Amino acid sequence: MTVIAIDGPSGSGKSTVAKALAARLGLAYLDTGAMYRAAALAAARAGLLDQPEALPGLVKGMALEISLAADGPAVRLDGEDVTEAIRSAAVSGSVSKLATVIPARRVLVDRQRAIVAAHRQPGIVVEGRDITTVVAPEADVRVLITASESARLRRRALERHGQADAAAMAATVDEVLRRDRDDSTVAEFVQAAPGVTLIDSSDLSIEQTVAAVLKLLPGA
Ligand code: C5P
Repeated sequence: MTVIAIDGPSGSGKSTVAKALAARLGLAYLDTGAMYRAAALAAARAGLLDQPEALPGLVKGMALEISLAADGPAVRLDGEDVTEAIRSAAVSGSVSKLATVIPARRVLVDRQRAIVAAHRQPGIVVEGRDITTVVAPEADVRVLITASESARLRRRALERHGQADAAAMAATVDEVLRRDRDDSTVAEFVQAAPGVTLIDSSDLSIEQTVAAVLKLLPGA
């Protein structure tokens, strides 16, 4: 039985590390960001993204299916495959509008807790912004992965634009820095909460970051 909770800002490397851990340990992988992205897509399609009071009801009513595969989730919204659509720039740019509405978060947090409870055996890696503090504070391993602002911008620019020159970095600022600023109004993912281990990945490879988390496993 292993629950590994990982939080961190955009570009910290947390998703890559969480997937690698799930694959290595044979555990399920829950990408909670994908759930917020799917909810934001549903809200945008319904024309409700700018109506905070309508969002909790919309999130409650949406039929969201998310797989727990270690190589990343397949996501279905009301029966439609939205795995690609939720990664679009439009969703990345607007997801915080939904994620900063506390009653809408509660609906998703309840679903996330239910998924974690159902997968304690053999275990699950859960990744997001409020996993160590709100969704699974009882996890066996609780980690906050951070990285310097320039490392986060560089990684995201490489991922999105295939390069990290000045133009690619500038184009990534909204997705990384503005989004983190908005998101941090409702979740604490800059400072590690008591009992949460801080790992600064700025100068670490993925492999080194994975190894740092593995060391924290009970009995390691
Ligand atoms: O991790 P990812 O970048 O895919 O997350 C997308 C968005 O979902 C974040 O920018 C944030 O607004 C929201 N989110 C959240 N709480 C989580 C996971 C994601 O608010 N646990």
